[in-house]
This record gives sequence, structure tokens and C-alpha cells, in this order.
Amino acid sequence: MAALLTSVRVVTTASAADARAPLIAVDIGHTVSAPGAISARGRTEREFNLELALRVVQALRDRGLRARLVNADGMIASLEARPAAVPDADFFLSIHHDSVSEWELETWVWQGHEQTFSDRWQGHSMFVSRRNPDLARSLLCGSTIGARMQRMGFVPTEKNARRRDYADSLHAVHFFDNLIVLYRAQQPALLFEAGVIKHRDEELLLRDPERQTRMADAIATGLAACLTTPG
Ligand SMILES: [Zn+2]
Repeated sequence: MAALLTSVRVVTTASAADARAPLIAVDIGHTVSAPGAISARGRTEREFNLELALRVVQALRDRGLRARLVNADGMIASLEARPAAVPDADFFLSIHHDSVSEWELETWVWQGHEQTFSDRWQGHSMFVSRRNPDLARSLLCGSTIGARMQRMGFVPTEKNARRRDYADSLHAVHFFDNLIVLYRAQQPALLFEAGVIKHRDEELLLRDPERQTRMADAIATGLAACLTTPG
């Protein structure tokens, strides 16, 4: 964790951002004790989420927006506590990495350890909740992020269309009404799935620092666009 924090070099001192600039809460999905999915090579989802979230915070600040990490230590008490951690945020963004269903998994041996994987699905997707107080802005931001991602060459997944209706099929934004972090948020909110860590090739891409930076750039550019568009 310390190594991660220093290698990404998030600026934690007073930011140059205007105090009136939109404030984004960047939530690191999962916790130390419940770290989420395990990648094809045995790495926890939380580790992926942490790396990308730090880069997103930096990318937002680079654009003059304000950003605050939620759950940096991985010890947050509950899902409800996540949006409550930054009550004055203008947007709540929860960073996750996707997995697959149990029945889709195959086994392989990586560095002497048996691991599970599936090379069937890859790509990013997003979720919004109709129970959020500002669905319109939540969806607008999902669409602007998705558009920016695709323009930069990232390809979304249709994996989650099997269970979740599309809110914006072109940009892989789905409805997931009962996600607690989305409907307990007092501001527009989005859950971002960066890619499928059970996919053996995509896992490596998702660990690539240069690609993480490009993805963070796409997210920050999309958010800057939707949060400065008059409602
Ligand atoms: Zn997750």
C-alpha cells in the first residue's frame, strides 16, 4: 500500500483548484477484509481499484477539479458510509473491477498456484441507479465518460447486459437500482467497472500504469464535461 501510494504520487497538499470547482468523491471499492474479486493471477480487486482511483484523483486535479478519496485505507465501516464520507461532493464515483460468474470459471496454474480465470469477457461498463436523487446527471456523466473512453480506444463489454438493462447501450451504462452506494448518495453517482480481472490478457492491461493513466484521463475528461454542462 505504501509503495502504491508513493509510486502514483497523488498530490495531497493544498490543491490549486478553485474552491468553487466541482468536488468529486472517488471511492475505492471493497475493503481490506473483503477485497472483492480475485484476478486470474491471484491479485485482489481492491488493489486494482486503489491504483486506478489514485490516478483518477490526480487526473481530476490536473483538470482543475477537486477530488477526495473515499476508503483510502480500506477500512470503511459500511457501504452507506461511502457516499456519506464526502457529503458536500458534487459527484460520487465508485471504482471497481469486474469479475465473472462462478460457472464461467476455468482453472490454470500461475507461478505454481492454481487460479481461476475466464477469457470470455473483457471491457469496461458502468452502473447508475434510478433511486439516486439525480439520475439524469448520473447518466449524463456515464455517457460522457463512456464516449471519451471509446474515443481513446477502450472497448466496453456487453457482459452485464445479460442481467442489467441498458441505460445507454452505446456507452455500456446499465441500470442497477439497488446498489447501496448509488442510491444512498445525495449527489449524482456512478459505479465504474474498469475491466474484467478474471480475463488473463485484460488483467495485464489493467495493471499497466501507462494504460491506467490513460483510463483515468478519460474518466476525468468525461466528468469535467458533464459536471460543467448546465443542468
Ligand atoms: Zn467490485
